[in-house]
Amino acid sequence: MMKAINKVLATTLTAGLLATTFPVTHTGNTVQAATKVCKSNKKTPKNVIFMIGDGMGPSYIAAHRYMRDNKATKQLDRISFDDYLLGAQTTIADDEHQNITDSASAATAMSAGVKTYNSAIAVDVNKHEVKTVLEQAKSKYKSTGLVATSEVTHATPAAYGAHDESRKNMAAIADDYYDEMINKQHKVDVILGGGKDYFERKDRNLIKAFEKDGYKYVTNKNELLKATADTKAKQLLGLFSPGGMPKMIDRDDNMPSLQQMTNTAIKKLSTNKHGFFLMVEGSQIDWAGHANDITGAMSEMQDFDLAFQEAINFAKTDCNTLVIATADHSTGGLSMGQGGEYNFFVDPIKKMKHTPEYLRAQLMKDGADVDAIIKENIGFELTEDEIKNIKDAVAAKDAVKIEDAIEKPVNKRSFTGWTTGGHTGEDVYIYGYGPGSEQWRGSMDNTDNAKRIFKFFK
Ligand SMILES: [Zn+2]
Repeated sequence: MMKAINKVLATTLTAGLLATTFPVTHTGNTVQAATKVCKSNKKTPKNVIFMIGDGMGPSYIAAHRYMRDNKATKQLDRISFDDYLLGAQTTIADDEHQNITDSASAATAMSAGVKTYNSAIAVDVNKHEVKTVLEQAKSKYKSTGLVATSEVTHATPAAYGAHDESRKNMAAIADDYYDEMINKQHKVDVILGGGKDYFERKDRNLIKAFEKDGYKYVTNKNELLKATADTKAKQLLGLFSPGGMPKMIDRDDNMPSLQQMTNTAIKKLSTNKHGFFLMVEGSQIDWAGHANDITGAMSEMQDFDLAFQEAINFAKTDCNTLVIATADHSTGGLSMGQGGEYNFFVDPIKKMKHTPEYLRAQLMKDGADVDAIIKENIGFELTEDEIKNIKDAVAAKDAVKIEDAIEKPVNKRSFTGWTTGGHTGEDVYIYGYGPGSEQWRGSMDNTDNAKRIFKFFK
């Protein structure tokens, strides 16, 4: 009985505390909380930061909460998102053959307020271009930014800054970022993420072109930090890898985090007195979901969480900024608990030093010491069969099988379930803070995001 009362008391205290000193999570890796509280009753924000956790369905949020929980306390600790939950949205696509959305269709719904077919980049079902909130912002002389950990030409950012009948045309999407002018300006002022290969091509060098037009170009974390401090650099192109960036737990010191990129983008864009629109994507939560890789999924949730805290902190000191964080769909059918087991154990996930994807690349190198790589990076005991599966896959040089052979033991020990290698159709949560955020309360459709932002940017 006493215990029960204590628990209630502890929960109440924590909840009260969180309201003022967000964020309180466990051991490190949190962003220093803003202490200022905005006191205005503004209903229209000047700036909008729209954040998309690609594939971040409800089970990813709940699994992330177990990952962040401080086991020394009895209650399940709250995560940064919990203080900002507003509602949920439906994600269905307008596609002849599929009623579960892909990232392109969902992003077009959120960027332009238009339902469309899977693979469409800011075009409607008739393949006609539709205006995006980023373009509307630019037409109102606001600054604009796109930040992603995938190629910055990937489906989600593309649906804000480009138009194409297919998400596959990533070179044409990069061309759009440069070629499509609004008020005689390039429409995206800050572009940060992966995908250098789509900007520096045989047929065209967009990096040189952007530089010629006054953009500062950066390729690693140090250069990014320098450019952040350089107040003369207003427009910024940062491409940190040929394709997608490494996942958070696989990054070396040269790679910026999503939080750092978000911080830089905000610093650059917020100098415009007309305001700004910034889209930030935690791109690879989805990629880990497709691979049924819980290690990668939890790595990317943490990366996105920290970026969210960064944006919230800015909004709390700025008082003119709306932050919305949501997902485009869920991926993989992730479940906490599997095979009738009433448990979801995070320790095996935490014991992984890298993602299976990263380890696969190491294992496939000539002369790789397979035993040593396994021992150093998989922090729990594998069975002989499990080791044999990995070794057989390495001998066969089968990339998919190698990753699979590493993922399975983690899924098995953590009781992580997966039902598909594709997307799933659940509603996704919406989090938010700032002027106008009350409009996101309750149940809505993904197209409502754009409809509301358009009204703010009238
Ligand atoms: Zn996906």
